[in-house]
Amino acid sequence: MPHVITQSCCSDGSCVFACPVNCIHPSPDEPGFATTEMLYIDPAACVDCGACVSACPVGAIAPESQLTPAQLPFIELNAGFYPPRAEGEKVPPTSKLAPVIPAPEVRTGGTPLTVAIVGSGPAAMYAADELLTQPGVRVNVFEKLPTPYGLVRAGVAPDHPSTKGVTELFDRVTRRKGFTFFLNVEVGRHLRHSDLLAHHHAVLYAVGAPNDRRLDIDGMQLPGAGTATELVAWINGHPDFTDLPVDLGHERVVVIGNGNVALDVARILTADADDLARTDIADHALARLRDSRVREVVIAARRGPADSAFTLPELIGLTGVAEVVLEPGDQDLVQRDLAALGAGAEHRLTRAKLEILSKLAGSDSPVTKPRIRLAYRCTPSRIEGTDRVSGIEFIRTGTDETRRLDAGLVLTSIGYRGKAIHDLPFDDDLGVVPNDGGRVLGASGAYVAGWIKRGPTGFIGTNKSCALQTVQQLVADYNDGVLATPAGRPDALAKLVQARQPDVVDLAGWRAIDAAEVERGQGQRPRSKFTDVAAMLAVAAAAPKPSLRRRLLAGLRG
Ligand code: NAP
Repeated sequence: MPHVITQSCCSDGSCVFACPVNCIHPSPDEPGFATTEMLYIDPAACVDCGACVSACPVGAIAPESQLTPAQLPFIELNAGFYPPRAEGEKVPPTSKLAPVIPAPEVRTGGTPLTVAIVGSGPAAMYAADELLTQPGVRVNVFEKLPTPYGLVRAGVAPDHPSTKGVTELFDRVTRRKGFTFFLNVEVGRHLRHSDLLAHHHAVLYAVGAPNDRRLDIDGMQLPGAGTATELVAWINGHPDFTDLPVDLGHERVVVIGNGNVALDVARILTADADDLARTDIADHALARLRDSRVREVVIAARRGPADSAFTLPELIGLTGVAEVVLEPGDQDLVQRDLAALGAGAEHRLTRAKLEILSKLAGSDSPVTKPRIRLAYRCTPSRIEGTDRVSGIEFIRTGTDETRRLDAGLVLTSIGYRGKAIHDLPFDDDLGVVPNDGGRVLGASGAYVAGWIKRGPTGFIGTNKSCALQTVQQLVADYNDGVLATPAGRPDALAKLVQARQPDVVDLAGWRAIDAAEVERGQGQRPRSKFTDVAAMLAVAAAAPKPSLRRRLLAGLRG
């Protein structure tokens, strides 16, 4: 019974390295790995050993026989990646894939390589993981919030717990020798780039893309107009967004743009609050959703169905859990796109998306429960309203026709945008720090990984190969003697941080916050998050101090 990769695939490639028969593709050395929506298991070559299941950090792999009904389309999706074979034909196992990308090898002899990583999301933690495979390397991770893991905590939708499972991998990285957390420390405020360079050979920025791309149309300033990314942060209890004014007292929400973030928001806004109550959704969001009057979320895309920005695994997931309908007129667009699509394998995913869309009911069907409506060729022209949002006007893309919809909340979901980093160059058009494979151009000792390096695209695991590429450059520069030896001693760094930010939170502090959140979940939910920095700091401050902890542990052992 072959194994199957399902919706929460993070594409980090861990399964590829674990597979003894090389039946998972594209692998990190193959074209398409960097952009693939997910990885696929070849059912004819899989030997059903389960090694990939243990290696997968997000629980995305299961034997075919254990899939839920909603996951069954993933059998065909995995198999369809490979050329057709005769029924029952077995492909001989290929040899074990060698580590196709060599691990960076740090030459020993000089001062041990010491790296500051700014940010603690996936790109940061994968970079720390790569660096700490080498003996003697020290990695200090600086994070603005008292809680780590960036978008995995504040961006992944609460009803996608498997995806959040990658934090177990990151927890393991924090336990590695040479790893230190400096949480609640903001680089740019408490510390400058020059402070970090004085204490490290290199500074690797993995700060993501914290801003939203903004839509420049009339009415965006009205109460009731906002962005999907802010709403996601509010849903996830990010402390900077707890006071976001989210009014769910109207029947319709319109989301502009149809990427995976739009799908996340629409799914949460139409979900059953009792189901959400079993997730780690922020308490304030759950309370508001319980009182919600929203009956329909319209996801409006400016282009046609074949150009939908959402990925196929997310569309399969969405239609498996939510009521999704299509504008009746848009069914013609789907049929037209299907007819126009070439037969080539490169159109496989688009064809599969269109086939799913072609089976959706029209939005003229009666509304029986909160639902999601997909609408195409809607270019937003103006948000209507006097004191607050009352509707939105679109132009039918490519025509002069206008159409309008009543709505109480309009959210743009048109992508994230990187923010300039103090003391580093910035490409304002692309919203990234200009770099060559992770080396920041014109700034010796500075490196980037993740969205600030390549822009806001890809999945959590995409950051693994992205971070590895940066770490390889950094290690090569260290081995070549290009990086200046830091003048400051490691203990001087701790003193400097303490002086600039007395409320710095260490690993013990984070573990205390983590444990308290899990306990607050009372076994009914994975955790109940703190959404207030002061509350987090109070818990962290009560954590046993290192000396006491060491004594306690020694006592336990002795
Ligand atoms: P995205 O995938 O880039 O989608 C952006 C959407 O905004 C597109 O539909 C785009 O339409 C539209 N858009 C852009 N400018 C517009 C404008 N001026 N007017 C109207 N529409 C406009 O962005 P995202 O949804 O924020 O996702 C960011 C990344 O995170 C993606 O790689 C996504 O896959 C990933 N992500 C993954 C998951 C998951 O795997 N579960 C969840 C969330 C996010 P056009 O195509 O016409 O430009």
